[in-house]
Amino acid sequence: MKITVLTGAGISAESGLPTFRGAGGLWNGIRAETLATPEAFAEDPHRVLAFYNFRRGMVCKAEPNAAHIAIAAVEGPHQVTVITQNVDNLHERAGSSKVLHVHGDIMTARSSHDPSLKVAMDDRDIEWGDLAPDGSQLRPDVVWFGEAVRHIDDSLQHIRDADRFLVIGTSLQVWPVADWIHHATNASARIIIAPDLNQCPPGFEWLQGKACDHVPRVAERWTRAS
Ligand code: NAD
Repeated sequence: MKITVLTGAGISAESGLPTFRGAGGLWNGIRAETLATPEAFAEDPHRVLAFYNFRRGMVCKAEPNAAHIAIAAVEGPHQVTVITQNVDNLHERAGSSKVLHVHGDIMTARSSHDPSLKVAMDDRDIEWGDLAPDGSQLRPDVVWFGEAVRHIDDSLQHIRDADRFLVIGTSLQVWPVADWIHHATNASARIIIAPDLNQCPPGFEWLQGKACDHVPRVAERWTRAS
């Protein structure tokens, strides 16, 4: 069986990583344009680097939770692809082997000029003056507002081909990913897990609540299914 899982910041909330929106969200009181755009980096690189260094530090201290672990466990009997908007590495650390990071990866830095020139940061900060191999300033390897989302064709194919489709912890407010959920036309089960939603997308079953409560139960059911 082919299972495709689409995750957002909510799946990592119970690992202690704040979401962007909702109560306690990172964007509360902050305008995204002041931190997560190429223009913000050009205007005040120190501020932008400090924001991402702080978040990288949080990711290093966080551990995968029961939801990340349950998704990885479904890989035994089934073919599982995780498409994540998250820049953390908790799916990989839980054991998922196929993870598409459509908004990039906070553990990696890249050249300001050439997105293909990357440097693994692990737990290190990116400092102003740290240079890529091409001599340009290093920046986080994340997708900022106005930049191209990654793995679009691949992600859409995995969503279209899915026999079961699970969406977890996303406010579905960031495009184009929010629109992708409507492409799961082949799936016999479409489930969305979130504590709050403005509206359940048509054709989905909404399991209202936290990822760590619902994902292990769904994963266990699907692990037993053929
Ligand atoms: P979002 O912040 O817009 O929405 C998070 C959603 O998760 C909300 O609907 C919230 O109700 C829900 N949620 C909160 N706690 C939950 C829990 N315990 N279980 C299940 N759901 C829960 O997040 P998004 O839709 O992913 O927004 C997109 C942007 O946020 C992405 O670009 C992503 O890179 C970025 N982001 C990533 C991280 C991370 O990597 N961990 C953290 C914050 C933001």
